[in-house]
Amino acid sequence: MRASQFFISTLKEAPADAEVVSHKLMLRAGLIKRVSAGIYTYMPMGLRVIRKVEQIIREEMNRAGAIELLMPVIQPAELWQETGRWDKMGPELMRVKDRHDRDFIVQPTSEEVITDVARSEIKSYRQLPLNFYHIQTKFRDERRPRFGVMRGREFTMKDAYSFHANQADLAREYQNMYDAYTRIFTRLGLNFRAVAADNGAIGGSGSHEFHVIAETGEDVLAYCPQSSYGANLEQAEAHSLLATRAAPAQPLAKTATPGQSKCEAVAAYLQLPLTQTVKSIVLAVDEADETGKITPRIWLLLLRGDHELNEVKVGKVPGLAGFRFATEVEIMAHFGCIPGYLGPLQTQQPVQLVVDRTVANMSDFVCGANAADYHYTGVNWGRDLPEPEIIADLRNVTAGEPSPDGAGTIALCRGIEVGHVFQLGTRYSVAMKATFLDEQGKPQPLLMGCYGIGVTRLLGAAIEQNHDERGMIWPTAMAPFTVALCPVGYDRNEMVKTATDQLYTALQAAGLEVLLDDRGERPGAMFADMELLGIPHRITLGERGLKEGLVEYVQRAHIQQEPCKLGLDQVLPA
Ligand code: ATP
Ligand code: MG
Ligand code: MG
Ligand code: MG
Repeated sequence: MRASQFFISTLKEAPADAEVVSHKLMLRAGLIKRVSAGIYTYMPMGLRVIRKVEQIIREEMNRAGAIELLMPVIQPAELWQETGRWDKMGPELMRVKDRHDRDFIVQPTSEEVITDVARSEIKSYRQLPLNFYHIQTKFRDERRPRFGVMRGREFTMKDAYSFHANQADLAREYQNMYDAYTRIFTRLGLNFRAVAADNGAIGGSGSHEFHVIAETGEDVLAYCPQSSYGANLEQAEAHSLLATRAAPAQPLAKTATPGQSKCEAVAAYLQLPLTQTVKSIVLAVDEADETGKITPRIWLLLLRGDHELNEVKVGKVPGLAGFRFATEVEIMAHFGCIPGYLGPLQTQQPVQLVVDRTVANMSDFVCGANAADYHYTGVNWGRDLPEPEIIADLRNVTAGEPSPDGAGTIALCRGIEVGHVFQLGTRYSVAMKATFLDEQGKPQPLLMGCYGIGVTRLLGAAIEQNHDERGMIWPTAMAPFTVALCPVGYDRNEMVKTATDQLYTALQAAGLEVLLDDRGERPGAMFADMELLGIPHRITLGERGLKEGLVEYVQRAHIQQEPCKLGLDQVLPA
């Protein structure tokens, strides 16, 4: 590709609202352009990287026996009502209406549509197993879109869904996908780790996440360098390691007294003077948007009586798993309570309020009661923001302690979730009556697995892991171009032009993706752009060197080193 015929648009400075290095570099290098919060145009240079990632994913999914199809972005509400997700999913699910006032959603995943395909297409055990996948646009109205493509609202995901006649076959395919994911992230050239995870909003049992290891990761991982043990500490309490602990550590915990209203409890927790009260057994934190509009959301839920729960985190409520940001009304509905009025707390036990990391990392919330004018604004839950080590303490895991598998010791690191494999079981097939006839001719619900990869998030994750002060350092498999040709004086020196054109043709003929910088930029500007863009190999051609038959070669990863002088014949592929 000749730069003059492509589109390169780089910036010296990143826009101020970009928080993490990958977001800054992607904007500076012109890989993406912001359209709206969490919504981006993938510019030509960025799209090349996306296509590289997709290609590797496709090859490995096909090799693993999965079959590609393409499901719609806009899906009818009826399917989502069948599984209950229409009601259960909160505002993260984007709902739209057509001209006939019919409800639709913009897909955050596609379990409903694929299960609908399966129930009409799969009749007999003889057709099983099957694994369908697509690479398609997703929309999740994330509470806090940030970090560029890493937590976008519109993003690209590869999602696969498998169907099985029995649990053993589901387990086999789960391992097959786990292995395919391992190959994919290895081929992409990333340093990653697979850890045990919970099931989030998708439901079912048996689940692993694949994380790219990076300082800026949102999740804290406990792993054992001596074995394959790994857990996402976000989920670690559900994990045996932590479940068996005697006394839970609670550096962020406060105790509320029985009979306290939500407002009182919140006020006590925050040590704020309480001027008004509203009776409630729910402790909630509400969120205000830029306009001041308040959305009630719950992170902590205190229940008693019939439910026999006096300390519940939303993530742990059966059936609400993953609804970390469910609205108060949704949670009340789940427990059969009447939203709005909930009566005073009646338990005789002191109730513990445990603030989890998700909350601890938040700032500037509105808290108080579920009534207008009964809120505190500007509350910062993160004022004692714990460092990773302290977070780990909260979860009662410390680095250096024995790992639960007995193979070694626990180490901690941060990760970016780039893939997730689940054994769904029959949750969707039962809800949607997707059955097959078994060998005895008896109808049975299909067993399902689902497997996601964040295609666009992978760009951000790869940059978080591979960059320096000059810019991105793409692993070769993801790089938009493999070789940058930087001729000095291309537009005015015949010798340089001829040698460059010959080399360009030869490298391309050898199957390399070459970016020839024929824009006539000064060497400094040209090098700065190629370094920012992270192109793995750079060959510089200048008159002086060419007279001796030499060019300069340097690898982006070793840009600090002096370029080495090579003969033209040495850079030409054999
Ligand atoms: P997270 O915990 O980061 O919110 P998730 O667990 O909700 O992710 P999944 O439902 O497991 O995500 O979706 C599969 C994959 O899609 C994730 O592993 C991640 O790589 C990607 N993904 C999820 N949400 C986003 C997003 N908002 N922007 C970009 N990629 C995303
Ligand atoms: Mg999510
Ligand atoms: Mg997750
Ligand atoms: Mg996930």
